[in-house]
Amino acid sequence: MTPDAAYRWLMLAATPEVDPFEVHAMASILALAADDLSAGTGLDRRAFDDLSVHLFPGAAPILGAMADRHVPDPDVEEQAVRDLLLMYAAGGCLDRHYAVLIARRCRWPHHLWQDLGLASRAELSRLMRSHFPRLVERNAADMKWKKFLYRLVCGVASVCPAPTCSDCDDFPTCFGDEDGESRLARIRNGIAANSAAFPEERP
Ligand code: SF4
Repeated sequence: MTPDAAYRWLMLAATPEVDPFEVHAMASILALAADDLSAGTGLDRRAFDDLSVHLFPGAAPILGAMADRHVPDPDVEEQAVRDLLLMYAAGGCLDRHYAVLIARRCRWPHHLWQDLGLASRAELSRLMRSHFPRLVERNAADMKWKKFLYRLVCGVASVCPAPTCSDCDDFPTCFGDEDGESRLARIRNGIAANSAAFPEERP
C-alpha cells in the first residue's frame, strides 16, 4: 500500500469523535512511516492497539499488521529525543505515541515536518503546541524543530560552533525557512485536508 493510500485508508477508518487535526496528523505520520517499515515506527504492539482504540477503530487489522513487524530499538540519540519529548509532554493519552514517532522520524534527512508526512511546518508547530506545549515555550525563537530537539539533547557546547546564535555562521541552518513539499502526494496536491481545514478550536 502506498503512503497516500494508507493515509486515505486511515482517514476513512477514523473515529469522528476526535479532533480532526489529531486524526489527520497521526494518519499522516503512520502512512509515511508505513512506507519504510524496515526502519519501524518505534511503536510497539500495545501502542498500535491503543491507536486503534482511540483514533482508528476501523483500522485495527492494518495497524496490527504494522505492529507485527520487527521494531528496531531506538539508539542512544533517538532514546534521548524520545525522553526529552516525554519530559515535556502535556499529559494526554497520545503524547507518548507522538514522542516515539517524532524521535524515530528525526533520523530522516528532510525537515521534520516533511519526514512526519505533514502538510507544513505550521502543522508540526500545532502538534507540538497540543502535546508538548512547554517545549514550544522554550522554542520561543522558533528554531527549526529537529535542530531544537537535538540542541537540547546534545547541549550547546557539543553542537554549536558559536556561544550565541546571533554570532553563529550556521544561523540560517537553524532558523531559516522550512519550505518544501509534503511527502504525501494527497496533501501536496491539496486533495487531503490542510491546516486551514482544521480550526484550532473545535466549534
Ligand atoms: S545558530 Fe549556531 S549557536 Fe545557534 S543553535 Fe544553531 S549552531 Fe548553535
